[in-house]
Amino acid sequence: MTQAVVLFGSPGSGKGTQANLLKNCLKVPHISTGDMLREHVREGNALGVRVAATMHAGALVRDEVVDQLVEKRLAEPDAQTGFILDGYPRTLEQAEHLCAWLDSRGIRELVIHLIVDYNIIVTRLTGRRQCPRCGTLYNIVSNPPRVQGVCDLDGQALVIRDDDRESVIRQRLAEYESQSRPLIEFFREKGRRLFEIDASHQTAEALLFQVCRTIQSPEAGLTAESAVKG
Ligand code: ADP
Repeated sequence: MTQAVVLFGSPGSGKGTQANLLKNCLKVPHISTGDMLREHVREGNALGVRVAATMHAGALVRDEVVDQLVEKRLAEPDAQTGFILDGYPRTLEQAEHLCAWLDSRGIRELVIHLIVDYNIIVTRLTGRRQCPRCGTLYNIVSNPPRVQGVCDLDGQALVIRDDDRESVIRQRLAEYESQSRPLIEFFREKGRRLFEIDASHQTAEALLFQVCRTIQSPEAGLTAESAVKG
């Protein structure tokens, strides 16, 4: 059975952090459209050049571009037993595209909606730092690295993402409200498996425990290994 998990939530809801932790439990790749797009921008290739300004402004990249990127990634060998989608789908068109793709392969996905209070989200996003090499996320208040400004894992100097400036954060949250939040209703109406978790106040580890428990619940029917034992 293919283990397909969609982590859904506002920017700053902790999708990226959870996906990073969860991939070790499920032994499936973490597929983040934001990370993939940033990689293209860093490489400066044709796609990167096309999407850079849009991302810089905190707006959404065109559906066809993202749909194609995800489809290509899902066709890779490591995604054949399952995957965790982070940041996709984000519009109704993307959700329809993904559902058609999953249905045509008989894959039943599990959507996990991480619900976080708006004020907490703004605090998290403004304090966010990322390792430019391995992608690990930190927060100067709630999840600082051991040494200030340096990645715990590979010693790289942490950076503030270009789109974590305050005006851009506001734009990204507005995009979420208008384009992405309606997907919750879409998933419900279409009878997709949607689980909602309050992710405002828990540590990343506590939240992972809850996410894994949700995934292991009989209604979910997926198998998360080790991480939740003990
Ligand atoms: P966040 O969830 O914190 O906004 P991401 O890393 O998921 O951060 O996304 C960063 C940017 O990448 C978005 O603001 C948008 O420009 C682009 N992007 C990522 N995923 C998508 C998507 N599914 N559709 C359109 N644009 C996307």
